[in-house]
Amino acid sequence: MTDWLFPPAPAPSLPIVGDTRRFPVRRILCVGQNYAAHAREMGSDPTKSAPFFFSKPGDALVSDGLDPAYPGMTDNLHHEVELVAAVGPGGTIIGWAVGVDLTRRDIQAEAKAKGRPWDAAKGFDQSAPCGALTLGDLPDPAAVISLKVNGEVRQSGSLSDMILDPARVLAAAGELWSLQPGDLIYTGTPEGVGPLVRGDRVEADVAGLASLTFTVR
Ligand code: MN
Repeated sequence: MTDWLFPPAPAPSLPIVGDTRRFPVRRILCVGQNYAAHAREMGSDPTKSAPFFFSKPGDALVSDGLDPAYPGMTDNLHHEVELVAAVGPGGTIIGWAVGVDLTRRDIQAEAKAKGRPWDAAKGFDQSAPCGALTLGDLPDPAAVISLKVNGEVRQSGSLSDMILDPARVLAAAGELWSLQPGDLIYTGTPEGVGPLVRGDRVEADVAGLASLTFTVR
């Protein structure tokens, strides 16, 4: 029995649709600019630069319908709806969920301008809301992925518009990291990202997966 100086932090985890077990989350990898129209709205040229990776700490996860807090140090918190791939034993994708990559866009813009890391823009506390995991194959690789704010559609695209499909995302991530069971990969967002304010009700969907809804506190 390890004699901890203080109790270790509880492991973040996701509920699983139709299963009483939980998926223990290890770390969160994210793909940037994996949809051409979103790359363009961010001022990039998707014909000249490939999708890339960044990460969030595992404890940035917000699960079980909890509501994320509006973070400090920003006046421009953005929503990015994303298909989330869950890595299981053997380094394969064993399930899928709907996530929102919350982003402090103003801090990200400053980081881009100054050539600084994105951690404060992307990896802040409660920056990774995620819905329940559906085990098995992706129900529809061309499913609609969408996000509503207070009932109004802000993002709507197709998973088939991903520059790197999930298999290629997994392969690319596996070249950069040793993927382990519990890793989550946020696979990028379609166009239409925009600001959230306190009290906004967010509904994020990928057809065939459990819906993710939360209110920004
Ligand atoms: Mn994103």
